Formats: sequence, structure tokens, C-alpha cells
Amino acid sequence: MISVSDALSHLLNLVSPLEAEMVPLAKASSRVLARDVTARRDQPPFSASAMDGYAVKGAEVELHAMFKVIGEAAAGHRFDGVVGAGQAVRIFTGAPIPEGAGFVVIQEDVTRKGDLITITGEPGDGDNIRPRGGDFFDGETVSAPCRLSPSDIALLAAMNIAEVPVTRRPEIALISTGDELVMPGSTPGPDQIIASNTFGLKALLEGLGAHVRILPIANDTLGSLKTAFSLTEGVDLVVTIGGASVGDHDLVADVAESLGMERSFYKVAMRPGKPLMAGRMGRAAMVGLPGNPVSAMVCGHIFLAPMIKKMLGEAHIQPALLSAPLATPLGPNGPREHYMRAVLKQDGQIQPFDRQDSSLLSVLAQADVLLVRPPHDKIRSIGDTVHYLRL
Ligand code: AMP
Ligand code: MG
Repeated sequence: MISVSDALSHLLNLVSPLEAEMVPLAKASSRVLARDVTARRDQPPFSASAMDGYAVKGAEVELHAMFKVIGEAAAGHRFDGVVGAGQAVRIFTGAPIPEGAGFVVIQEDVTRKGDLITITGEPGDGDNIRPRGGDFFDGETVSAPCRLSPSDIALLAAMNIAEVPVTRRPEIALISTGDELVMPGSTPGPDQIIASNTFGLKALLEGLGAHVRILPIANDTLGSLKTAFSLTEGVDLVVTIGGASVGDHDLVADVAESLGMERSFYKVAMRPGKPLMAGRMGRAAMVGLPGNPVSAMVCGHIFLAPMIKKMLGEAHIQPALLSAPLATPLGPNGPREHYMRAVLKQDGQIQPFDRQDSSLLSVLAQADVLLVRPPHDKIRSIGDTVHYLRL
């Protein structure tokens, strides 16, 4: 049995950052930027009015000053002339500041009669002008790697970047194994249950940016498992679920090895999730997860998520370990790192659930954090600081 952190380093060694592909900006949200991109223009490309009002010479702005309106500048339509002494141009937000002007008096501070305006409100010090390049200049960079947020997408659009280099999505195949499993929506036999892990893991991994295929459920026979593996051609990562222990019906290791899997490790000192195996199968990485639903999902968070993030070339691949005071006393921990399903309460304390059995998806679904207890952690009292990860 190896530690969780050793298992994670082995797993990360099985995968490498993937290559980049170009995608249209409208498809780039949440993708990971693969290369720095640079702005193709200044924004704004000219000094622009920030308000609706009148553009005049800055030196002439004072209460009661009068100007003659000589034209208009609107967004998309500049005023072509020059603003001279005693002159004003009617201007709207986003319009280029006309030559000669250096101040926009907002319309609320002006009284207009025909072509004449008088400043009748205190104009203040702000010139109401957005300087050229005030947002960004041509050549300014958005640095990779970064997961593109909606704000990043807006920025790239403003920079006139229509196609974005992003890391291609990792291709993942998920194989559920077990004679007892049927797909959601079917009518299970009396001894059957619904395969849930593949769906939870698909949701988790696709949320991170992977492309996940759920393969047909494999029965607990060598032939059925081999058939399932034969459908994984071309993927970056094969994940099997179940059949990874040492029971008579646990055949995943035998089949994977007969197909050339070079085992990297088997069994991790963690709870839930001990019977985890991993290795290399040709150009793909292979991870065999335990079948218990909570074990499979916790291993998904702890191990598969960082593997996906590494493939995507992300800068931060390990989940952040946070700390909070404990809401309830805990007995000593055994030799395995324990990932307890827990909630973070309004008062900031962390409350583990009483029931921690690794088959209880209803408890996992209520949990928003995993309380992480190191191997051989001592007895803990209310208020002790403990570590946790967000789910
Ligand atoms: P195994 O690792 O195959 O011994 O499975 C351990 C437990 O997890 C058994 O109770 C299985 O029925 C259950 N199990 C295995 N795979 C899945 C799955 N894909 N979805 C839900 N439960 C599963
Ligand atoms: Mg099984």
C-alpha cells in the first residue's frame, strides 16, 4: 500500500500535457488557454467620451462659460472638424473626442438654447474622457495557461482575437464492470442495481474540460472485459470502475495485464478508495477505481481531477487544502488517510456526517467538503483545526 501523495505522483507521471488546437472564441469558454495571446489593437482605439455631453477646450471650462455648438459626434461617427475657442461639439458616450477638445461637460451641467450652451452646473475636475489604450494597448498579453472565464472571453473579443489556442480536451473512456449493473432508465432484475459511478464521474470530468465516453457495462467475465477494453482505442485515459479488489469476480487487473498494462501501483492507504490500481496501456493511462460509489467519486476528485488538469496544462493541479475548526469530536484515525464526507456550517465549523460508509451516495450528495484526516491522526476535539477540500 502506498500513500495518497505517492499514488498521486505516480498517476501524474502517467499523463502529459496535450497539444493545442484552435477554437472559435464563442467555443472557448472554460477551455484552458495553451499559448499567450496578444491584443491586436488599442482599446479604446481613440480617446473617447465617457459620457453624453459637450466636448470643449479644457482651459475654457468654468461655471457660466458659454459655447457655440458647431456639430455632433456619436459612437461610430466622429466629428471631422476642429473645436476652436468658444466652440463645443455635442458628443455621446463612446464617440471619438474631436481634435482641439480636451474635456466633456456632461449634459446635466449645461443649459442649451438653440446653438448656444452655458455651463450652469459645477463641472468638476474629471474630464470624462477615456484615453486611447486606457483598457489595453496593442501587443498586451493574456498569459497561458489560464482557464478562460466569461470575463477573459470578453477581453479576448475586445482584443480582436477570433480564434483561441486551447489545449485539446482529454479523451476519457469509462468502463463500469459488474454483472449486477444496468444503465439508468432500464428495468433492473431482482439482483441488480443501477450503474451510478460512470455518470457521476462523467459529470465531474466533463466539468473540468475532458471529453468522456461511457462504454457499455462489462460483465464479470474475461471476454466481456476484453471487449470493453477493445473499445478504448485512441483515448488518453481508460478508467474502469469496480472489479479491482481480490474477490473471485474481480478480473480487471488480470484482463488489463493480459492486454499489456504495465502496473504502476495497486492499493492506496486511503479511506474510501483502497483498491485503486493504475498503469500504462500503450499510449493511454489506465486507472482502475474501486466500485463502491463514494470511493469511485472520491478517487475521481483526488486522483482523476489532477490528472485531467495536468493533461490540460493547467498551472494548479492539486486541490487546495483548506482548514476549519471541527464541530464535533473525532476518535483516532487508523493507518489510512480518511476523506470524510462533511459540511461546512454557517459558523465556519466543519461537521462530518455520522454515516461514512462508502456506498452512501445520499450522504456524498449532501456533503460540500471532504474532511481530510492524515493516517494515525490523534483524537480530535471540538474546535481543533482540521483540513478539508471543497467538493
Ligand atoms: P466491486 O469493486 O466490483 O467489488 O464493487 C464494489 C461495490 O460497488 C459493489 O457493491 C458493486 O455493486 C458496486 N458498484 C460497482 N460498480 C458500480 C457502478 N458503476 N455504479 C454503482 N455501483 C457500483
Ligand atoms: Mg464488481
